[in-house]
Amino acid sequence: MKDEVQSGIRHTWPWYGLLQALVLALALWMGLTGAFRWRPESAAAQGNAGTYTVVAGDTLAGIAERFGVSLESLIQLNGIQNPDLIQVGQVLLIPGGGEGTAAVDLAVVYARPGESLRAVALRYGQDAAVLATLNGQEEHTSLFPGQPVLVPRETLPPSPLRFGAVATMSLPDALVQGRTGRLWVTTRRPLSLTATWNGLPVVFTPTDADPLRQFALLPVPALLAPQPYPLIITYQARNGFPLSRTWQIPVVAGDYETQDIVLPPDRGELLEPTLVQAELEKVTAVWSQVSPTLLWRDVFSRPVSLEYVTSSPFGTRRSYNSGPVASYHAGQDFAAPEGVPVVAPGDGVVALAEPLDVRGNAVLLDHGRGIFTGYWHLSQIDVTPGQMVRQGDLLGLVGNSGLSTGAHLHWELRIYGVAVDPMQFVEEPLAGLSP
Ligand SMILES: [Zn+2]
Repeated sequence: MKDEVQSGIRHTWPWYGLLQALVLALALWMGLTGAFRWRPESAAAQGNAGTYTVVAGDTLAGIAERFGVSLESLIQLNGIQNPDLIQVGQVLLIPGGGEGTAAVDLAVVYARPGESLRAVALRYGQDAAVLATLNGQEEHTSLFPGQPVLVPRETLPPSPLRFGAVATMSLPDALVQGRTGRLWVTTRRPLSLTATWNGLPVVFTPTDADPLRQFALLPVPALLAPQPYPLIITYQARNGFPLSRTWQIPVVAGDYETQDIVLPPDRGELLEPTLVQAELEKVTAVWSQVSPTLLWRDVFSRPVSLEYVTSSPFGTRRSYNSGPVASYHAGQDFAAPEGVPVVAPGDGVVALAEPLDVRGNAVLLDHGRGIFTGYWHLSQIDVTPGQMVRQGDLLGLVGNSGLSTGAHLHWELRIYGVAVDPMQFVEEPLAGLSP
């Protein structure tokens, strides 16, 4: 036990020694991101602070006098070991800030037993590399319990992002029409969380590495009016009563164009409303399910090779035969000739594989936890329902079946039934992995 205490003390000194590196990193940070205000979360009495860059002729005592602070507080805040050794260009934190200082906005959080800087970053939804620079520590260096860690306040969730056994949350500041946001929650004990966003059920999935850490995807309907919508998170407390909190997350407009689709007369009849509706109900029954296991991680690969470019992106507002804008493009179209192989972008189970009137020869993959991808207008289907597929496995061939004006692949992504931009999942690892 005595050894542990001593080792804790030994860790303390390098940390203070590294404060100078920290202050320099701060200067760099401020240079990159503009002015901040310094407000330690732990001590409101300390108030604001700023930074001051040492110039020729400065002494620490002179600087203390100039900013009306005690020499002691300056030494303590900056971790200065020899007050006679300050250098021109050195950046000092000034308690209380004031005129002549650059404002800093940092918050202090505290390490738990056994945590590394990277673990702290994960717990607070921070970028580990930024914290490493800011604190002059390696990401994997172990911290002593209670060790203060500086984090940029701007990237911290607003303070009420915890309740009961929900220790921390990372909420998106805003969501974009047709895009998918991600929410992280860390709990103090294993919790079964439920949530709704904009009235839609949201599915929480624990990460592989840490059962106390869960993520949920927040799909935004492409035509949802830009305004704030409530996110409500609930769990059952130990006393059996549900505990809930509500946050408002604003939706902002996506950048989508409007396109007129001209249909030949013999295909026009396919838009007969009852037929369209019956088919929609059929596919909706499939993609509304939530299977228990997330089958895929990281990013999707493309369902057709890179040479086949996008002919119509997700989200384009659509009118048919110059009619009013009544719908939007619920998927991503790739221009590819008939017969081009269509492959699974990630692991999944075939949930539907059959000819449909509007969507033509169609395949739907279930990737688990309410995430489905669809492949329409195929000329040939090469999978059967219930079949497990791996990333890269052949699903079928590009075609022109169903309501289609030329050979192409329509690729669709549904999350809890909401169509969202599938290309975001090619670019960002939104599922499963820790940020
Ligand atoms: Zn399409």
